[in-house]
Amino acid sequence: MADTSADLLVVGSGTGMAAALAAHELGLSVLVVEKASHVGGSTARSGGALWLPVGPVLAEAGAGDTQEHATTYLDAVVADSAPRQRSTGFVTHVSAMVDMLRRTTPLRFFWARDYSDYHPEEPGGSATGRTCECHPFDTSLLGAYRTRLEPGLMEVSVPVPTTGADYRWMNLVARVPRKGIPTFAKRIGQGVGGLMLGRRYAAGGQGLAAGMFAGVLRAGIPVWTDTSLLRLDVDGHRVRGAIVVHGGREVSITARHGVVLATGGFDHSMDMRWKFQSESLGANLSLGAAANTGDGIRAGQELGAGIDLMDQAWWFPAVAPLPGEAPAVMLAERSLPGSLIVNQHGSRFANESSIT
Ligand SMILES: Cc1cc2nc3c(=O)[nH]c(=O)nc-3n(C[C@H](O)[C@H](O)[C@H](O)COP(=O)(O)OP(=O)(O)OC[C@H]3O[C@@H](n4cnc5c(N)ncnc54)[C@H](O)[C@@H]3O)c2cc1C
Repeated sequence: MADTSADLLVVGSGTGMAAALAAHELGLSVLVVEKASHVGGSTARSGGALWLPVGPVLAEAGAGDTQEHATTYLDAVVADSAPRQRSTGFVTHVSAMVDMLRRTTPLRFFWARDYSDYHPEEPGGSATGRTCECHPFDTSLLGAYRTRLEPGLMEVSVPVPTTGADYRWMNLVARVPRKGIPTFAKRIGQGVGGLMLGRRYAAGGQGLAAGMFAGVLRAGIPVWTDTSLLRLDVDGHRVRGAIVVHGGREVSITARHGVVLATGGFDHSMDMRWKFQSESLGANLSLGAAANTGDGIRAGQELGAGIDLMDQAWWFPAVAPLPGEAPAVMLAERSLPGSLIVNQHGSRFANESSIT
């Protein structure tokens, strides 16, 4: 007999919050369980850049993207590795997803013009890009729950809510001061001025996760933190719920319409990283959320689900840390004029301006 039940169980509170919001809007009762003490996962630690081809954000900005161009691009970059129905499904549903987030959260999106596609040289690729971002979000809207948001990579006492689009000009302030200085002034003003008004703005993934969290709170969707998926509960060939560890004991949850596994990757499972990525990986240095240890992947595998592309990841250049320190994120510094990156032999090993 189950301890509790919901129409939909969402495991993981990063992008899982979007699933929870969509289901709630459809009238389903939803429960989100989250292994960490904080809400947001790697999503809250990320840059928050959203690749949203064709959708309303690009259309409103006059970006001129079309379904055909976006599909051509996806065919060029992922056709060999994923069934076409998946990329087609993605492109087809971007608009509905953005509209849903606009209805269910206070998030506001904009087109990050000139944030190039990762492969602009491929057919359908765009150098002006299809990446969108959220405007800086006032996390004080979370009220007492603000401290429950997964901290960002670089927590500072005085916030300077910097979007990717801002960062471009801030990074080039010495070269293009007419763009860089006003951008700095605007964001410092927003951060400091906001504090004086009792607001605390966050940009990037912090803003994105905070906005979804605000929607989840507004909808009254329960989120059980410090609650870890142990295994899926099956009845024959049907998943009927899950067993989680909550408050130090096993709790059985019935999910009448299914379970969404949104437990992120295996960033911090060195066993999996050695197995699927490289045996030469040394210490555990991933910048992803600490609780992401591949639990959802394993839960699926236990039921016979297939895995693929396990060597792939959202890689990011970082500077190797001194012992005991976290890696330093390296954004655009490497591609600044005059920057060269060399290996321990003093030789260049990459195109510093390459986006990936
Ligand atoms: C530094 C950095 C920058 C990035 N920037 C970008 C970017 O700009 N654009 C982009 O598209 N991508 C970016 N990414 C990648 C992106 O953040 C991730 O692909 C995305 O956030 C993954 O979302 P998710 O919901 O799958 O996982 P997450 O957001 O990590 O959510 C998974 C959640 O599941 C929880 N969980 C794990 N195991 C269990 C369990 N057993 N039971 C219950 N809960 C569990 C975790 O605690 C976590 O909260 C970046 C990543 C990093 C690390």
